[in-house]
Amino acid sequence: MTDQNHPDTGTARPLGGLKIDLGTNVGSPLGGIPTIDGAPAATTPLAGSPTTEAPGGAPTETKVLIIGSGPAGLTAAIYAARANLEPVVIAGSAPGGQLMLTSEIENYPGFPEGIDGPELMRRFREQAERFGTRLFDLDVDRVDLSGRPFHAWARGKEFVGQSVILATGASALWLNLESEQRLRGRGVSACATCDGFFFRDREIAVVGGGDSAMEEANYLTKFASKVHLLHRRDGFRASKIMIDRAYDNPKIEVHTNTEVAEVLGEDKVEALRLRDARTGQERTIPMEGLFIAIGHRPNTEVFRDWLPTDEKGYLVPHHHTASRIHGVFIAGDVADHRYRQAVTAAGDGARAAIDAERWLESEGIAEHATQTAW
Ligand SMILES: Cc1cc2nc3c(=O)[nH]c(=O)nc-3n(C[C@H](O)[C@H](O)[C@H](O)COP(=O)(O)OP(=O)(O)OC[C@H]3O[C@@H](n4cnc5c(N)ncnc54)[C@H](O)[C@@H]3O)c2cc1C
Repeated sequence: MTDQNHPDTGTARPLGGLKIDLGTNVGSPLGGIPTIDGAPAATTPLAGSPTTEAPGGAPTETKVLIIGSGPAGLTAAIYAARANLEPVVIAGSAPGGQLMLTSEIENYPGFPEGIDGPELMRRFREQAERFGTRLFDLDVDRVDLSGRPFHAWARGKEFVGQSVILATGASALWLNLESEQRLRGRGVSACATCDGFFFRDREIAVVGGGDSAMEEANYLTKFASKVHLLHRRDGFRASKIMIDRAYDNPKIEVHTNTEVAEVLGEDKVEALRLRDARTGQERTIPMEGLFIAIGHRPNTEVFRDWLPTDEKGYLVPHHHTASRIHGVFIAGDVADHRYRQAVTAAGDGARAAIDAERWLESEGIAEHATQTAW
């Protein structure tokens, strides 16, 4: 991936993790936030718009500021760029998003032979750049959505957008074992819908104790010869009906009080070293795949003071892709814990860019360029 195409493009690697900087000037900007339903836009508002220019040079201004560069953000960029809106993408510390973590994608339309995740995202980015998108590989650490124009800051650099598309995704949670990270995409996965197909007639394991783990274990029995469901506690968090379904499935073997100590294998998963959580006793079972189903963390920390989130922390769109703040749009996994697919995220990105374009047009900031039949 290159960010050489525009002289203004940042190349510095961002600080890891998100940080909310509430600033020092905590006022009450709620009254100033134009919301769609007239309700307060935020629970705990940020300070009023900072007036001092942040260090890091002149602010970068755009009609469409896109935060996140996974399938949602980059598709939004392609649409916005082709509508002459000269978008700017703040790509985050994981440019390309979650598909950068996976080797083979077989369900993205247009690639009958399959395509490597990083290669697919390289193409998304190239396509966005081709139409003039500027990208900055930085993490946004603070936003001010109190009114148009909107502001975002990333490592002291200020961005100003007449509209904003939030596409920061949701990060899959991992066990954080060295062996698990090393074998990610080589038998270790966090997406059963995406990778189950590769495990036809193989013996595999699913880690987790909630409804998603139960659902993934059941789903994976369509492919695998046997699914070991591993949970480190005695009881499951999942609903009774899902637990019963797992226990009733003859292809699922449930192991409670069981932790994964190590994923064994050089280039692919060959076995798991399991530990009894009560006794510490270890055993090794041959296995060809490991699915981690312990949840996702939506990357919404920076926006939570401005926009409502659901009980899991995901953003909640108000109407189509529009948020409750006029001019702020939402796309992809940052709001979607139901489908979580590249193609659905990309679709959301297209919708958000078209919605943003229409909104900018209604505000007299942009001319209509994308033909729709609304
Ligand atoms: C292991 C694995 C395998 C998968 N395989 C497939 C598959 O085969 N097929 C499929 O369709 N789907 C697959 N998925 C799911 C797919 O990756 C996601 O559904 C899709 O990437 C979501 O796109 P998104 O743009 O919404 O978010 P993401 O891809 O998560 O991108 C989010 C972006 O936001 C950025 N970001 C986050 N916080 C900030 C911030 N504060 N400031 C700036 N930027 C920020 C990140 O850097 C990143 O660029 C897989 C997922 C995983 C984890």
